Amino acid sequence: MEKRKVVIIGSGPAGYTAAVYAARANLEPVLFSGFFSGLEGGQLMTTTDVENYPGFPEGILGPDMMQAFKKQAERFGTTCLQEDILSVDLGKAPFLLRGKKREVEADAVIIATGAYAKRLDIPGTRDGEFWQKGVSSCAICDGAAPIFRDRDVYVIGGGDSAVEEAIFLTKYAKKVYIVHRRDELRASKIMAKKAVEHPKLDIPWYSVLERVEGDQVVQSVSIKNCKTEKIEKREAGGVFFAIGHSPNTKFLDGQLELSSSGYIVVEKGTSKTSIEGVFAAGDVQDDRYRQAVTAAGSGCMAALDAERYLSDRSL
Ligand code: NAP
Repeated sequence: MEKRKVVIIGSGPAGYTAAVYAARANLEPVLFSGFFSGLEGGQLMTTTDVENYPGFPEGILGPDMMQAFKKQAERFGTTCLQEDILSVDLGKAPFLLRGKKREVEADAVIIATGAYAKRLDIPGTRDGEFWQKGVSSCAICDGAAPIFRDRDVYVIGGGDSAVEEAIFLTKYAKKVYIVHRRDELRASKIMAKKAVEHPKLDIPWYSVLERVEGDQVVQSVSIKNCKTEKIEKREAGGVFFAIGHSPNTKFLDGQLELSSSGYIVVEKGTSKTSIEGVFAAGDVQDDRYRQAVTAAGSGCMAALDAERYLSDRSL
C-alpha cells in the first residue's frame, strides 16, 4: 500500500493552500480532490466573479481561481488525485484512508472537505433550471451581479445567514424580501432588529417559496402563505437560499470530535483536531467566516501544524 507523509482531503482554497505549503516543505503531499461539494475545487466552482479575494483587483472567476490554486500546488510537487475519500481509519498512526479505487496510509492528515450550502428542491431552482441563473446560495459571492441590480430579490430562511445576506443584497436590489416560514426570525435579536427596521427589507411572515419562473434568468417567484394557503406570484430578479450549511464530515464516521452542528472541532488558534496528527482547515471547521481567504489562511496553518508534528516525531 502507498504510504505518504501528508495526505490532504479536499480541493478548495484550504486544501490547495495546505498543499502549496506542504509541498514547499518537501513533504510530497497527496491531495484528494473529491466531489463532496459537487465539483472538484469546492464551492467556488459554482460561483461566478470572486471580487473579494485580495490580489485580484478586477475580480476572477471562481473556477479560474481554483484552477490557478491547483496549478500552484502541482508546481511544487503535490500529487492531485481525483477521488473521494469514502472512509478513514484514524484509530492509530499511520492513518488509513480509503477511496473508491485506492487506499493510502498517511503519517499526517489534513481534512479540508468544506461544506455545502443547503438548497431546497423547489420547481425552477434546480440544476438546469434557474440555478446560477438568478438562483444562488451565496449572496456575498453572487449578489453584486448585474441581474440582481434594482430588482426585487428573495432570500429564503430566517437565521443569521438569511438576515446577513438580505442586508448585503439591499446594496444592489430594489427591495429584498426574507421568505420565512414562521412569524419570528431565528436570527440573533440584534440581527433580527436590523432586518425588521431596514427600509429596503420586508418579511412576509409565514411564507414559503413554491416556484421560480423566468426566461433566460429568474423573472418571478410564487410565494405561499402557510396560514392562508394563498399563493402569490411576484416579479423577482433573484432567489437566495440561506437555510444553513452542512459540513462534509460524514466519511469521518464519528472518529473526530464535532460540534453540535457537525463541524470539526479544532484547538483554538490552531488546526489540531481531537486526534494527534489529524488537522482540519477551511469550512469543514468554520461555521462563522466561510470565506475563500479565511479558508486559504487556515490551510496554511494546517500545513505548518502538520510539518511541525512530523518533524517533532522525526517522521
Ligand atoms: P440556521 O441558524 O440554521 O438558520 C436556518 C434558517 O433556515 C432557519 O430560519 C430555518 O427556519 C430555515 N430553514 C431551514 N430549513 C428550511 C426549510 N426546509 N424550509 C424553509 N426554511 C428552512 O442557519 P444559518 O443562518 O446559516 O446560521 C448557522 C450558524 O451560523 C448559526 O449559529 C448562526 O448564528 C451563525 N451565523 C452567524 C452570523 C453572524 O454572527 N454574523 C452570520 C451567519 C451565520 P426555522 O427558523 O423555522 O427553523
